[in-house]
Amino acid sequence: MSLIAPRRSTRVLHVGDVKIGGENPIVVQSMTTADTRDAAATLRQVHELADAGCEIVRVAVPDRKAAAALPDIVPHSPVPLIADIHFEHTLALKALDAGIQGLRLNPGNIRKPEDVREVVARAKERQVPIRIGVNFGSVAPMPEEFVDEMAERGATQVDLRAEWLVRSALGHIRILEDLDFGLTKVSLKAFELPVLFEAYRRFAALPNDYPLHLGVTEAGTPKSGSVRSAAGIGTLLALGIGDTIRVSLTTNPVEEVFVAYEILKSLELRQKGAVMIACPTCGRVEVDLFTLANQVDDFLATVTEPIRVAVMGCVVNGPGESRDADVGLAAGNGKGVIFRKGKIVRTVAETDMLVALKDEIQMVIDERKNGLVEDESNRYQPSRPSVRLTPV
Ligand code: SF4
Repeated sequence: MSLIAPRRSTRVLHVGDVKIGGENPIVVQSMTTADTRDAAATLRQVHELADAGCEIVRVAVPDRKAAAALPDIVPHSPVPLIADIHFEHTLALKALDAGIQGLRLNPGNIRKPEDVREVVARAKERQVPIRIGVNFGSVAPMPEEFVDEMAERGATQVDLRAEWLVRSALGHIRILEDLDFGLTKVSLKAFELPVLFEAYRRFAALPNDYPLHLGVTEAGTPKSGSVRSAAGIGTLLALGIGDTIRVSLTTNPVEEVFVAYEILKSLELRQKGAVMIACPTCGRVEVDLFTLANQVDDFLATVTEPIRVAVMGCVVNGPGESRDADVGLAAGNGKGVIFRKGKIVRTVAETDMLVALKDEIQMVIDERKNGLVEDESNRYQPSRPSVRLTPV
């Protein structure tokens, strides 16, 4: 029995031409770090992200100048864009008028109900989804009655924080439901993974089918942030929770896309690009495997087709892993045996290993291009009827 739980059932939303939820592939998102007021710089970064495989890009819209730049950005973007807006409803209206494909906005943070109504009506008219995003670092302070209520129930600090995230999200959701708006996606982010897990688990257990966006907020610098994101996002995905993901790293956002796909590939939820199995080497290794593995890795970074490649240092584990991969190398004693699709195809000297591996990888890619691969994007599940989550 697989320990990866079946995916939570959700309604399907369309952010531009990208389908979210249902049985559609889990979507990789990122966010630009460029100043949105600089349309050229923002577009350049959106293109870099799209080239790396990012499927939806969020852009911050903090002020009127940023909103005014959207007509120069949105129509030229290669992927759907989401405008990240706080407090100011006119920015959301401008983003919608510019053709934005999604909004990230908490309606409870807009002061006047009539302003919320205007934004929601226009989003509905244009079929633009809204993501409600609550983040433990920025949710409203917990009222005393809530803390007392949870204390009476014997709640731990994790329960308390997670439940407050869920209730905060429900408050925003209720506003959209009261306006008969159901194109809603939800995120409940936290830095502490136990709180993150508990918040998503609690929300997913409620009777609702809203798609969920996953992320570990302010995860950190590339090394620690990637590990924290892999543990956080990976665990939730393994529980069957999550329809879109964003890895938040303090670096060039293109790195976020790479890490996101590595998480999805590790769980075998997406197959975009290459997967490389490389042994860590040990006292048995008889070739310069570090150099070879890094050279193969660099080559595979240019490959977009799904392919599994093994680069192994000796005959102990080498043949097994290599046979199991699309292309594999079991090295030993200054030479290496190359496998393709489980069969030995040649034995080469150490100096020829890289070229031989590239040749074999290219052969498999050419076969794939000739139509032997399932296109993930073809899988589609029609939208389910909406279910009201909060009481009327
Ligand atoms: S495959 Fe061989 S060289 Fe690599 S770690 Fe295993 S035993 Fe060591």
